[in-house]
Amino acid sequence: MSFEDSLWRSTAGDSFTPRPSLPGDIDVDVAIVGAGYTGLWTAYYLHGIDPSLRIAIVEREIAGFGASGRNGGWCSSLFPPASSGIARRHGAEAALAVRRAMHDAVVEVGRVADVEGLDIHYARGGTISLARNQAQLARARERVEDERRVTGDVEGLELLSKEQAEGHARATRVVGGEYTPHCAALHPLRLVRGLAERLELRGISLFERTTASEIKPGAVVTDHGTVRAEIVVRATEGYTPSLRGQRRRLIPLYSLMIATEPLSAEAWDQIGLHRRETFADLRHMRIYGQRTDDDRIAFGGRGAPYHFGSRVRPEFDRNDRVHEMLREILVDLFPPVAGAAVTHRWGGALAVPRDWHASVGFDRARGMAWGGGYVGDGVATANLAGRTLAELITGQVSELTRLPWVGHRSRHWEPEPLRWLGVNAGRLLLSRADRAEARSGRPARSAKAFARFIGY
Ligand SMILES: Cc1cc2nc3c(=O)[nH]c(=O)nc-3n(C[C@H](O)[C@H](O)[C@H](O)COP(=O)(O)OP(=O)(O)OC[C@H]3O[C@@H](n4cnc5c(N)ncnc54)[C@H](O)[C@@H]3O)c2cc1C
Repeated sequence: MSFEDSLWRSTAGDSFTPRPSLPGDIDVDVAIVGAGYTGLWTAYYLHGIDPSLRIAIVEREIAGFGASGRNGGWCSSLFPPASSGIARRHGAEAALAVRRAMHDAVVEVGRVADVEGLDIHYARGGTISLARNQAQLARARERVEDERRVTGDVEGLELLSKEQAEGHARATRVVGGEYTPHCAALHPLRLVRGLAERLELRGISLFERTTASEIKPGAVVTDHGTVRAEIVVRATEGYTPSLRGQRRRLIPLYSLMIATEPLSAEAWDQIGLHRRETFADLRHMRIYGQRTDDDRIAFGGRGAPYHFGSRVRPEFDRNDRVHEMLREILVDLFPPVAGAAVTHRWGGALAVPRDWHASVGFDRARGMAWGGGYVGDGVATANLAGRTLAELITGQVSELTRLPWVGHRSRHWEPEPLRWLGVNAGRLLLSRADRAEARSGRPARSAKAFARFIGY
């Protein structure tokens, strides 16, 4: 069981004793399905706006069991789609508004942690994205130019020379990079567990080991009874396809992670990351890492297969081939890591909508709300989702409720086997493009064509 295997699980300082299940049928004002960031932030801000609301959260396992308890801990302003994609679909003003909202979300997570006394190891050191061949450098240039063209100087995204990039992280073969200040490294599981605890103290009901089989207007049907509620919120992200009627709404994609033992001061002198900048390079098949509060490296990447029928199973969290590949990539990036033991290996499912466009929404007539489809950028985005859903549900109109992701609907994924064929073909194509770029230094046209094909 990969939740138990993660670095975060062993360093969260929590007993993880499950809370009681739903005792039978109940009536509340708002029923939330899923106790990850989306569900918990929604409850947090709803309670803040109207403490008289009766809110119940049902969670199939325990709070933080999903991606929120297993992720890379990048509390970043990344948002799917990127600014150019938003500008294309919704206009430049909308792209600018999203950038500002996401910057605020990164800060807001740290602010709430402070106010609530949550020790989440939050360090706002920004993100360094390294270019390690000429194709990656060309991509960095293009991204920085694209961002400037659409949102001007708001993003503060800097194109870096080799020396500047190495000033953040002394990885191998660095030829340049880009840096954004809008990211914090944090301990993801401490955040989600801390939030759950604070909600309980405020009188919000959290029922664990309670599986919803169906959500519908006015009710969440579970294996322990029905929660009747005027408003129902779906916050199940990568697990959504298991709910009745939601099979093709999102797909679960696996992202896997490893963590090293704490590295020595000498190793850190060689590597850098002195401000705990989160780091990646600019390959297509995404990788991500952070220097943890206790001086380890937690490092992850995509590349695990998509499983037929959008299945999510504990055994999919472990994949020896991908975990070993991650170790090799990490050592290739930072040779001082070579002698360090890999102490933890785990993984989890994140959700991808067909058009790679995150969304939140509230259908007032039916009383149904949702948030998700963050494509692996959900730590800060789910905070924005929670604040936005709370405002939508309580009938407020604000800058948040006018953001272009509100009410956005992606088309459904194709039926199987097309879905399986398409997603896995894309995965192989991106890996191949990365290998070709590393060999030749020339941008792989196939990857760009694929991005266009999937509509990203
Ligand atoms: C390995 C990995 C690394 C990642 N790294 C990053 C990162 O560094 N930065 C970033 O921004 N994002 C990252 N992400 C994505 C991010 O973690 C997610 O987008 C975010 O946590 C989603 O939060 P959520 O609350 O919507 O979903 P989840 O945290 O997945 O929560 C959904 C909850 O719903 C529960 N549930 C599901 N079905 C039911 C049901 N039928 N009945 C009751 N409960 C149910 C689940 O048990 C789960 O607890 C990563 C994801 C993974 C898997």
